[in-house]
Amino acid sequence: MAFGKKNQPEIVEEETKIWVCSSEDCNCWMRDNFKSDEKPVCPICKSEMEATSKVLQVVTNNSLYYKENQ
Ligand SMILES: [Zn+2]
Repeated sequence: MAFGKKNQPEIVEEETKIWVCSSEDCNCWMRDNFKSDEKPVCPICKSEMEATSKVLQVVTNNSLYYKENQ
Protein backbone atom coordinates (compact mmCIF):
# COMPACT_ATOMS: atom_id res chain seq x y z
CA MET A 1 0.00 0.00 0.00
CA ALA A 2 2.23 2.79 -1.20
CA PHE A 3 0.47 6.10 -1.31
CA GLY A 4 2.06 8.98 -3.14
CA LYS A 5 4.92 6.83 -4.37
CA LYS A 6 5.67 5.63 -7.82
CA ASN A 7 3.54 2.86 -9.16
CA GLN A 8 4.93 -0.43 -7.98
CA PRO A 9 3.32 -3.64 -9.04
CA GLU A 10 1.69 -5.44 -6.17
CA ILE A 11 3.51 -8.64 -5.38
CA VAL A 12 1.17 -11.54 -4.86
CA GLU A 13 2.31 -15.00 -3.93
CA GLU A 14 0.34 -18.14 -4.37
CA GLU A 15 0.98 -21.85 -4.42
CA THR A 16 1.23 -22.77 -8.03
CA LYS A 17 1.42 -26.09 -9.77
CA ILE A 18 4.68 -26.38 -11.61
CA TRP A 19 6.64 -28.93 -13.56
CA VAL A 20 10.25 -29.63 -12.67
CA CYS A 21 12.76 -31.17 -15.04
CA SER A 22 13.71 -34.69 -13.96
CA SER A 23 17.26 -34.33 -15.22
CA GLU A 24 19.85 -33.79 -12.48
CA ASP A 25 21.88 -31.62 -14.81
CA CYS A 26 19.06 -29.26 -15.53
CA ASN A 27 17.29 -26.90 -13.11
CA CYS A 28 14.54 -25.91 -15.45
CA TRP A 29 10.99 -25.72 -14.23
CA MET A 30 7.87 -24.13 -15.54
CA ARG A 31 4.40 -23.17 -14.57
CA ASP A 32 1.58 -25.51 -15.30
CA ASN A 33 0.08 -24.01 -18.38
CA PHE A 34 -1.23 -27.34 -19.53
CA LYS A 35 -4.90 -27.88 -19.05
CA SER A 36 -4.79 -31.56 -19.88
CA ASP A 37 -3.04 -34.41 -18.09
CA GLU A 38 -0.42 -34.43 -20.75
CA LYS A 39 3.11 -34.52 -19.39
CA PRO A 40 5.27 -31.73 -20.74
CA VAL A 41 8.87 -32.21 -21.70
CA CYS A 42 11.63 -29.88 -20.59
CA PRO A 43 12.02 -27.02 -23.07
CA ILE A 44 15.77 -27.00 -22.41
CA CYS A 45 16.84 -30.64 -22.44
CA LYS A 46 13.69 -32.49 -23.51
CA SER A 47 13.64 -34.66 -20.38
CA GLU A 48 10.41 -35.68 -18.70
CA MET A 49 9.06 -33.28 -16.14
CA GLU A 50 7.54 -34.03 -12.76
CA ALA A 51 4.56 -32.22 -11.30
CA THR A 52 5.04 -30.42 -8.01
CA SER A 53 4.04 -27.11 -6.49
CA LYS A 54 5.88 -24.02 -5.41
CA VAL A 55 4.93 -20.72 -3.84
CA LEU A 56 5.50 -18.25 -6.60
CA GLN A 57 5.11 -14.58 -7.13
CA VAL A 58 2.33 -14.03 -9.56
CA VAL A 59 3.83 -12.16 -12.44
CA THR A 60 2.31 -10.75 -15.52
CA ASN A 61 5.06 -11.29 -18.02
CA ASN A 62 4.57 -14.07 -20.47
CA SER A 63 7.65 -16.15 -19.81
CA LEU A 64 6.67 -19.78 -19.81
CA TYR A 65 9.70 -21.25 -18.20
CA TYR A 66 12.38 -20.27 -15.75
CA LYS A 67 15.63 -21.43 -14.35
CA GLU A 68 16.20 -21.70 -10.64
CA ASN A 69 18.06 -18.82 -9.01
CA GLN A 70 17.69 -16.63 -12.01
ZN1 LIG B 1 15.70 -30.04 -18.46
